[in-house]
Amino acid sequence: MTPLLSNYISGTWQDGTGAGTPLLDPVLGTELARVDATGLDLEAGFAFARNEGGAALRALTYAQRAALLAAAVKVLQANRDAYYEIATANSGTVKNDTAVDVDGGIFTLSTYAKLGETLGERRHMQDGEAARLGKDPLFQSQHVQVPTRGVALFINAFNFPSWGLWEKAAPALLSGVPVIVKPATATAWLTQRMVKDVVDAGIFPPGALSIVCGSSAGLMDALQPFDVMSFTGSAETAAVIRSHPAITQRSVRVNIEADSLNSAVLLPDAAPGTEAFELLIKEVAREITVKSGQKCTAIRRIFVPEAAYSATAAALSARLAKTTVGNPRNESVRMGALVNREQLSSVRQGIAHLQHQTETLFDGASVALLDADATVACCVGPTLLGTRDAQGSDSADRVHDTEVFGPVATLLPYRDAAHALALVRRGQGSLVTSLYGSDPAALAAMALELADSHGRVHVISPDVAQLHTGHGNVMPQSLHGGPGRAGGGEELGGLRALGFYHRRCAVQASTSVLQAM
Ligand code: NAP
Repeated sequence: MTPLLSNYISGTWQDGTGAGTPLLDPVLGTELARVDATGLDLEAGFAFARNEGGAALRALTYAQRAALLAAAVKVLQANRDAYYEIATANSGTVKNDTAVDVDGGIFTLSTYAKLGETLGERRHMQDGEAARLGKDPLFQSQHVQVPTRGVALFINAFNFPSWGLWEKAAPALLSGVPVIVKPATATAWLTQRMVKDVVDAGIFPPGALSIVCGSSAGLMDALQPFDVMSFTGSAETAAVIRSHPAITQRSVRVNIEADSLNSAVLLPDAAPGTEAFELLIKEVAREITVKSGQKCTAIRRIFVPEAAYSATAAALSARLAKTTVGNPRNESVRMGALVNREQLSSVRQGIAHLQHQTETLFDGASVALLDADATVACCVGPTLLGTRDAQGSDSADRVHDTEVFGPVATLLPYRDAAHALALVRRGQGSLVTSLYGSDPAALAAMALELADSHGRVHVISPDVAQLHTGHGNVMPQSLHGGPGRAGGGEELGGLRALGFYHRRCAVQASTSVLQAM
């Protein structure tokens, strides 16, 4: 029998009373551990976090809480090797892909520790300047931001068990709001182990950090009006979350990160042979293969001028052909597995769905696996699809509507800049788009044109070839989220992230009262 991973709630480690759901190795098919949340007293756990954890965190200043984040960073760094082993076994990722999750999570936490220091020995934030309410300047309105007196519930996706926790927990804990995380079942082990290491180190006050592994049943029911919740996952589950009475009746503040049809655009000046063209090829090939395409920010649609279609197809296919796929334990493997059989089947169905309206430029189904049994391992080769002309880019509606959560992208030719913009916008709101070219004015104009439909526009020009942080890498300094089908959420963006965990209030008083605050 594999180990049952404990839940940490009400300040104690508690096992579920059910048989548990197994977590599997997606390459070998073996069972690794089980999770179960049956029988937990969630009401009591949420109340403990709210009352004990919240009060203790709010008693500290921002700088003191920042010091706790820094202490958690040290604990996580000390256990990094164990996290890599868990990720290899449970997520089937190669080392470089594990780094995106594990080191990305630790880096984000350490960034917030540094940002928190700058807030100093305060317990609330001033929001803007005081505004006089009448002719006499004595009576004024001053907005303040104070931490919400509730819990922050995170229901997370399977693809980032580390980063998905810390990118949310860092701003929440820094704000003084206790965290309850429910990781996706498939990869819950890494999240559970990280929480366990931090809890065992005794860094945060009791109730500040809790974890429920297993079913989500009852979690939303336990939410009360001053709680906040963040969801990352599919659009279908997001719709269920949005219609829950906690949101519709109790006004729990919710942040949603759902699926996204991100794009890359080669500008007209970046013809094949130019440096900007090569930068697109490199970045798109990386985006298709990193984490086997299981990245919410991954490039799904590649827009190029019609004249560049064949050269782009050839250059990308040549790169993808070099990607070795299989067992991440083999040092020669560059791309590991999808997370489980359900995702493998969903990705295969998604590719077939898109192939009805596209041609296959590079066929991942024909890629031989290295060191892995194709009947067991959840591996699939990288796939590049395309529509031969600009007319096809318009008529292939599935490409603009279907997120295939795997190593798959579609090459779509456009007629002119206006056509490119119209095609990008058919994603109906995305997390990120990247632009490739050498003309600053053209790049700036397109970035602003796409800013309303994206959380982030990543512009790659030859002068930043060695400096840029990558289309898909979510940097804590920049906003993460997107309007429309991307969920309408906002995370990160430096200290902006703290706004979600604070309540804004206008205090109307005499200048002397406002100064005393
Ligand atoms: P999912 O099936 O929607 O699951 C997400 C989370 O919701 C899991 O923890 C899941 O728990 C939980 N859940 C399932 N049903 C629920 C319900 N009725 N009520 C409350 N919680 C429920 O999504 P996924 O397959 O893990 O993730 C893939 C999707 O996430 C992709 O579409 C991807 O684009 C999106 N994603 C977006 C971002 C972003 O930042 N925008 C980041 C990563 C992923 P169980 O695991 O126990 O079922």
